[in-house]
Amino acid sequence: MQATLIESVEIAPGVRHFVFEARGIERLAFTPGQFVSLSGVVNGQTITRAYSLASAPCGKEAAAGNRFELCLNRVDGGIFSPHLFDLAPGDSVEMQPPLGTFVLREPVRNSLMIATGTGIAPFRGMLQATLKPGGPAFTLLFGVRHESHLLYRREFEAMARELPQFRFWPTLTQPEAGWTGRVGRVQGHLAEAIDATCQTRADLDIYLCGLKPMVDDVRQILKSMGFDRKQIRYEKYD
Ligand SMILES: Cc1cc2nc3c(=O)[nH]c(=O)nc-3n(C[C@H](O)[C@H](O)[C@H](O)COP(=O)(O)OP(=O)(O)OC[C@H]3O[C@@H](n4cnc5c(N)ncnc54)[C@H](O)[C@@H]3O)c2cc1C
Repeated sequence: MQATLIESVEIAPGVRHFVFEARGIERLAFTPGQFVSLSGVVNGQTITRAYSLASAPCGKEAAAGNRFELCLNRVDGGIFSPHLFDLAPGDSVEMQPPLGTFVLREPVRNSLMIATGTGIAPFRGMLQATLKPGGPAFTLLFGVRHESHLLYRREFEAMARELPQFRFWPTLTQPEAGWTGRVGRVQGHLAEAIDATCQTRADLDIYLCGLKPMVDDVRQILKSMGFDRKQIRYEKYD
C-alpha cells in the first residue's frame, strides 16, 4: 500500500507532525495506539521503520477516513527519519497496514499514560478516541527537556479544561527561567500521578511510551510498587 503525504508541519524543534493519506482505500482501520511501518529506499537500501499513529481513526483532524497522522523526531545521524522529513506534499512512501498491541485494555479503566518525547504520539490518538464526559480518569504525564518540546500542548490543555477527569501533567528536565510547572524526569512524579488517578492501585492501568531507558526504568519502579504486569502496557521506540 502507498501513503501520500498531505502535509507536514514543524511543531517543535526537530519534530514534525505529518498527515498522510493511505492510497486506494476509503478507510484505514486501526485501534488507537497501533503503528504503521513505512518503507523507502535510502542510499540504495530499502529501509523500514515503525511509527505510532498519532490520530484516532477518522479523528478530528483526520477528517477523511483514509488519512492518518504521525509525529516524528528527526534523529541526528538517523537513516529513515531524515528521509521522511525531506518528503514534500504529494510524495509517496510504501506502508504496511496498522499493527501492534499497544492499545487500551478493555474495558477501559482509570489510566495513567506516561510519555517522553515523540512517545506522546499513540496517546494523542487514544485520548482523541476515548475521552468522553463521565468516562474513566486519565492522567497524561509527559516528560520533555524544554517547554518548546511540549508536543500538542494546546490540545491537551484544552482537553483538561473541558473534561475534569483528564489531567495533563507536563514535566521539564531543562526548564527555562519562568517555568512554574513540574520539573525533572517523569519518574519523580510517578507516585503522585498514580494517587491522583485512582483510589485503589489495583484499579489502575498504566501505559508507557518512549525510548528504552525511560520505559525500562519506570517498569522497574512500578514492579517494586507491586503493580501486576497485566496492568502495565508499553511501547519502546528503540
Ligand atoms: C512500534 C514503534 C513505534 C514508533 N513510533 C515512533 C513515532 O511515533 N515517532 C518517532 O519519531 N519514532 C518512532 N519510532 C522510532 C522509529 O521507528 C525509528 O527508530 C526512528 O525514526 C529512527 O529511525 P532512523 O532510521 O532515522 O534512525 P536509525 O538510523 O535507525 O537510528 C536509530 C537511533 O535512533 C534512536 N531513536 C529511535 N527513535 C527515536 C525517537 N523517536 N527519538 C529519538 N531517538 C530515537 C535510537 O535510540 C537509535 O539510537 C517507533 C518505533 C517503534 C518500534
